[in-house]
Amino acid sequence: MASDDGPGQAGGAEATGKVTAVAPDDLLEATLADLRAEARSVRARAHGNRVTYSPKVFIPLTMLCRDRCGYCTFAKPPARVRSPYLSPDEVLTVARAGAAAGCHEALFTLGEAPEERYGAARTWLDEHGYGSTVDYLAAMCALVRDETGLLPHANAGALGEEDLARLRPVAASQGMMLESLDPDLACHRGAPDKTPARRLSTLHGAGALAIPFTTGVLVGIGESRAERVRTLAAIAEAQHLHGHVQEVIVQNFLPKPGTAMHDHPPCPPEELWWTIAVARLVLPPEVHVQAPPNLSDDLSPLLDSGLDDWGGVSPVTVDHVNPERAWPALHLLREATEAAGLTLAARLTVYPEYASQPERWLDPAMRFPVLDRLDAEGLGREDPWCSGGVAPPPPLVGPGGGVGPGAGVGSGAGVGSGGRAHDGGAVSAVLDGVDLGQEVGEDEIVTLFSARGPEVRAVAEVADQLRRDEVGDVVTWVANRNINYTNVCTFKCRFCAFSKGPLSLNLRGAPYLLELGDITERVAEAEAAGATEVCLQGGIHPSFDGDYYLEVIRAVRAASDRIHIHGFTALEVTEGARRLGEPLVDYLSRLKEAGLATLPGTAAEILDDEVRAVLCPDKINTEQWLDAHRAAHSIGLRSNVTIMFGSVEQPRSWARHLVRTRALQRETSGFTEFVPLPFVHMAAPIYLQHKARRGPTFRETLLMHAVGRIAYRGSIPNIQTSWVKMGGAGAFQALQAGANDLGGTLMDENISRAAGASHGQLMDEEGFRSLVEPLGRRLEQRTTLYGRVPAPC
Ligand code: SF4
Repeated sequence: MASDDGPGQAGGAEATGKVTAVAPDDLLEATLADLRAEARSVRARAHGNRVTYSPKVFIPLTMLCRDRCGYCTFAKPPARVRSPYLSPDEVLTVARAGAAAGCHEALFTLGEAPEERYGAARTWLDEHGYGSTVDYLAAMCALVRDETGLLPHANAGALGEEDLARLRPVAASQGMMLESLDPDLACHRGAPDKTPARRLSTLHGAGALAIPFTTGVLVGIGESRAERVRTLAAIAEAQHLHGHVQEVIVQNFLPKPGTAMHDHPPCPPEELWWTIAVARLVLPPEVHVQAPPNLSDDLSPLLDSGLDDWGGVSPVTVDHVNPERAWPALHLLREATEAAGLTLAARLTVYPEYASQPERWLDPAMRFPVLDRLDAEGLGREDPWCSGGVAPPPPLVGPGGGVGPGAGVGSGAGVGSGGRAHDGGAVSAVLDGVDLGQEVGEDEIVTLFSARGPEVRAVAEVADQLRRDEVGDVVTWVANRNINYTNVCTFKCRFCAFSKGPLSLNLRGAPYLLELGDITERVAEAEAAGATEVCLQGGIHPSFDGDYYLEVIRAVRAASDRIHIHGFTALEVTEGARRLGEPLVDYLSRLKEAGLATLPGTAAEILDDEVRAVLCPDKINTEQWLDAHRAAHSIGLRSNVTIMFGSVEQPRSWARHLVRTRALQRETSGFTEFVPLPFVHMAAPIYLQHKARRGPTFRETLLMHAVGRIAYRGSIPNIQTSWVKMGGAGAFQALQAGANDLGGTLMDENISRAAGASHGQLMDEEGFRSLVEPLGRRLEQRTTLYGRVPAPC
């Protein structure tokens, strides 16, 4: 078994230390201050200002172990445990508590092959039908993954390739502390699994099998500094060979009563700091360096030594390897991290670099369980909110906001008080440029989307100020009705739960095509109910030619000669013109003459063809979408920009979308607003096929509004928040992050509901008012083009 992970061995490659980037002698002679300064600088270049942790539960599957390590209280003899192994029910009870508490990881830590030492272990395994401890571990990993969604991390000690391979389909990552390559340590004399050769063999075996792997060193168990450098160099060499070492734990020894080393001095803090800094310098920069936060009383020197990860922290279970050392409360970890000018982010047991290459690093059986917990940067989702769902959003801005009045704790750099949270960080640098009036480009936009913690609030505050400067304190809404004339569509957008192929009667909802008379009737009803706009969009029915859309307009006009016709996506008009063989601009002119006034920006999804090739390969491409809006603007039609985000793409694609639409706006001035549409996953085919994330996180969604406001400054004046997807509480926060418009009342909202959204079909003026008035802002009904609605006679 391993440490933090715990006390941990293997036969194979001997470390050479030849890949040590910095000469060992230099490291041994340098001052601690110089080493730490250099380590911080390497961390900043490789990992920015982000420090991660893994919210986890600790499952001590068996505390029996065939080894006897001099520092260990984890391992116990059979007489001192109630049962040789936790039962499946006990395992699930712990895992379920972790899932309910928002954990992502189930850390299985266990003794090494206890069945080879204890008859009680062998008998238990035989009675329960398992050939070995690793067999049972594999079964419990699968059980936890399938029943709770937690991602197992198997920390089973020194294993041969067969056992490592057996665990790969059920564990997202595996680990084993290398501890030390010193073969003469007294503490390892009773531990056959702790021979350097055996542990190195495990480390390289995991590499050969492409297993994202955690290893580490134990500091202060009798090894010399030079030995530690040699051990770290061996890990670096494994990383150069296989690329699988995702993190290295630097764990300080603390003596425990009842162990052979009870009177051995604890690892001096300076020795731990020295080793963290040296690990940072010896290991390739991409390897994450971790120190357990519960084994030190003061966290700031650890951060100052260059770590970028706190490891697993559990809100539910104790550290069974160091039960006397409680995990720090999450808020304390956050405060300590932010006080150092760094930000804290939850991660999965598998790091983003590995989660983003699932074909290489994950067994097929683990790919969706990992994907389902990811955010757009490959880190862990930080709350249960999802677009269109019922879980409340976390408070990121406003009173009680996630970082609240204590933003920049200890840094003296609270937001909005002259300074900026985390002055000196990349997000702060971009915001400083925004304050100076600079335009954000693709890279700067990507940086803004990486904001975490106090940085999110800082981005939102800048966006809120820009909103105030550009459009004041009025929040607008429009009285409208959606009319989706058909859900039959010849296209196969993989995110679309709305469309039905003509024969796909077995899918949710029956295919339908409204009669033109139905459309007229609905428009009349809408106008009678006070609507000023009808929003027309639907599937691309195989029977439609371009004339259909003209007929729809006439059907609307049969009921009302003044209601604003907001209709037909770029796809619909492009397809309509194509089916008639007519130039798009001529076709749009005829639609305009008939009464069309504005186009919705939907069908944009993500204007990045790499992403469109996955989401909607047979749909118009980026250039065609832009061309359709360019053509519409050229004849005086107006339209808006939407972005459907959070399914398969990364922030780089969001940035491209914003930059491309901004360029068109500079050319035409035809866009009236930007509408972020967070992906609703519940019934989306691509999610049901296990190929997409469960939409953006709330942080990402809030940032999309704020970053949109910043990116479109002086260009697109209005940022709309979709109450259908955000829910009232989400829209309330978006209004504090750059949004100034609540969109439409949307009688008969069908498309989001088809995808599983549950925020209803109709919002009324009072509903909107309840969101706006607490902010001290004024609600005002608008026309589609942001004019004032005349008071009723
Ligand atoms: S998104 Fe539109 S074009 Fe694509 S399948 Fe759905 S209805 Fe058809």
